[in-house]
Amino acid sequence: MKAALFYGGADIRVETVPTPEPGPGEVLVRVLAAGICGSDLHGYRGNRPPTPGGPRLNGHELAGEVVAVGPEVTTLKVGQRVGVEPRHLIGCGVCRFCRRGDYHLCAYLGQRNGKQVHSTGFAEYSLEDAAKVFPLPDHVSIEDASILDVYSCGVHALHLAPVTPMDSVVVYGAGAIGLTAAEVYAKAGARQVIVLANRPHTLAAAEKLGMTAIDVTACDPVEAVQDLTGGQGVEVVVEAVGGRGATFEPALQMAATGGKVVFIGMYSQPQALNMRLIHRREVSLHPCWSYALWNGVPEFKIALDMLADGLLQPQVLITHRFSLDEIGAGFAAADDKGNSNAIKVVINP
Ligand SMILES: [Zn+2]
Ligand SMILES: [Zn+2]
Repeated sequence: MKAALFYGGADIRVETVPTPEPGPGEVLVRVLAAGICGSDLHGYRGNRPPTPGGPRLNGHELAGEVVAVGPEVTTLKVGQRVGVEPRHLIGCGVCRFCRRGDYHLCAYLGQRNGKQVHSTGFAEYSLEDAAKVFPLPDHVSIEDASILDVYSCGVHALHLAPVTPMDSVVVYGAGAIGLTAAEVYAKAGARQVIVLANRPHTLAAAEKLGMTAIDVTACDPVEAVQDLTGGQGVEVVVEAVGGRGATFEPALQMAATGGKVVFIGMYSQPQALNMRLIHRREVSLHPCWSYALWNGVPEFKIALDMLADGLLQPQVLITHRFSLDEIGAGFAAADDKGNSNAIKVVINP
């Protein structure tokens, strides 16, 4: 099969590799759309050492069609259109975290017989676990389904910090992860969702999604949030920037007394926590990494059901599309969102 091989940094080459065959409990999915994730960009920018043992295949946000089923698979058929919870999100099944539905916290996450496994969305085919593959209703498009992994992170944030109709939410950062979380919170019944953005095209997207959009380059974001909430702050802050941490302390300042700050953004360096901002007001901090089950239901399935019910608008977020041969250009667009005006870039192998 044709696949993009990641040699480290921006060195991505499309080559031919053996097509995998599904073993027991596995299916082979023909990839029809695969999103470029912020986490893929860490490797692209050279923030991650090259994988030992040569180039690797990547791509964990994908949807496509089942083309082969392995032995013991009874739930899926060849020809079915499917959304895919990425393959690395399988735990050992027996540790306390796996048993209680938090398999994303398993120490052996993504390991099969001692080997790390993962999806290969930036290739013609991806081997997947049947238990993680969800048939799509006819009216859900493959392209929309390809970014369900992103919406699932928003569902997990909601799981960690739920809202009621009396609660206001700030989403700090308007990349794909921030905007998808904003959509999930809005549809979960938050009274208002304020999106803090720093680029014209993401501000426009936030407005199109019905959010209260604030341009942080034109005001003090903490003051703006206080103004919008009568000086109270918001019950939930979703911090979706991370990086070097310029948004870390402002996020704490925006939280109301008793509020929660959910950290989805990945930080590249340690942050100093000013306890005075949170102690007396009992503001709680919730790191949010990936997703798993919520009351036994896959958070991926919750996102899929929201999409199928017409509650989410991925077409506002999917701004760029490239073929597998053009994947280098796709990564360049995703890497330089200030110039490309990209929000979510999708590869169509
Ligand atoms: Zn991702
Ligand atoms: Zn486990």
